[in-house]
Amino acid sequence: MSTPTFSIHDEVRIKELLLANGHKPFRYAQIENAIYKNFITDFSKIETLPKEIREILVRNCHYQSLRVHSSSTSADGQTTKFLFKTHDDKMIEAVIMRHLSGRNTLCVSSQAGCPMACVFCATGKLGLIRNLDFSEIVEQVMYAADTLDKEGRKLRNVVYMGMGEPFLNYENLKRSIESVTAQKKLDISVRRVTVSTCGIIPGIDRFADEFPQVSLAVSLHAPNDVARSRIMPVETTYPIDQLMASLDRYVEKTNKRIFYEYIMISGITDRIEYARELAVLLKDRMAHVNFIPYNPGEGIMGDGMLPTSRLIIAKFQHELEKAGVPSTVRHTMGDDIDAACGQLALKENGESLATEQGRSMGKIS
Ligand code: SAH
Repeated sequence: MSTPTFSIHDEVRIKELLLANGHKPFRYAQIENAIYKNFITDFSKIETLPKEIREILVRNCHYQSLRVHSSSTSADGQTTKFLFKTHDDKMIEAVIMRHLSGRNTLCVSSQAGCPMACVFCATGKLGLIRNLDFSEIVEQVMYAADTLDKEGRKLRNVVYMGMGEPFLNYENLKRSIESVTAQKKLDISVRRVTVSTCGIIPGIDRFADEFPQVSLAVSLHAPNDVARSRIMPVETTYPIDQLMASLDRYVEKTNKRIFYEYIMISGITDRIEYARELAVLLKDRMAHVNFIPYNPGEGIMGDGMLPTSRLIIAKFQHELEKAGVPSTVRHTMGDDIDAACGQLALKENGESLATEQGRSMGKIS
């Protein structure tokens, strides 16, 4: 039986491998250049390396463990959604958004499934299947960077807003951000990476210390405990007052504005008194609110929930404006290909992937 190979993105192990075979450390820089700058996928074709090292790489490493199960592009060509299968047949997804301004953004997954069980989210219905390894996150970025490169475009932004809760997979999140932003690797500016959390306080505190330049988005979705706990189970573990205290610490340490995501679900999160409460909560905080109209995903959620009308969203924006809190309405892209969080995977996997194991692992303490 052959020994399992490890990822070419695993810098530590590759350096160990070079050393163990008596090769000089500068060889790593040549490998890095071939993989990340020239998008060479076949190690035997890295011509800057001696044949012996190429063979060592071929024997011991793999370029990609994810396989593209399917991909679909929206009718307007702006959004492409990839559904990947991991080596152990779990489904994860990533979405490229080609903005008209020329900026290209990739939304990546940090977990297969998600334990957080937010009621409006398709991924939440799966439960946690497993954490992704950092290399599986980097592979999503590599694949998108390569796809865009072939179109003559460049990947500029990476957002951790796909499947999963990034702060519950912190070590792999960390290693993936390091690879994505390293100048000698994918070289995405740290300021153009955004991590979105449902509000895991220990993760926020650690992130403020370790990645003060990376942007933080927080899925707030409701302005008080009662309303939030109806849609987000995380509220019982990390209630709003404690969450806001950790976000205040974040701002103090980083001096960065936080993006607050607020989902607009008709009759549930869009009561006008919530607009006023939200304004009070975020006034004098370094906040920017992104209103996200609920995406029902062709009704696959089967919950009958509907997005809020533009008129009511405008009223929310007006309340915030009066309090001096800037906001935008997130332009929904890729509706026709189910590009909202977790929707395609749910369709492909059905409920069957939400295994008992996934459910029990998914319980947050
Ligand atoms: N776990 C992280 C990141 C993943 S979800 C978090 O909670 O922030 C990325 C964003 O999509 C979150 O703000 C999430 O609440 C939102 N989202 C999930 N399902 C949605 C839906 N059906 N319609 C609109 N936004 C949704």
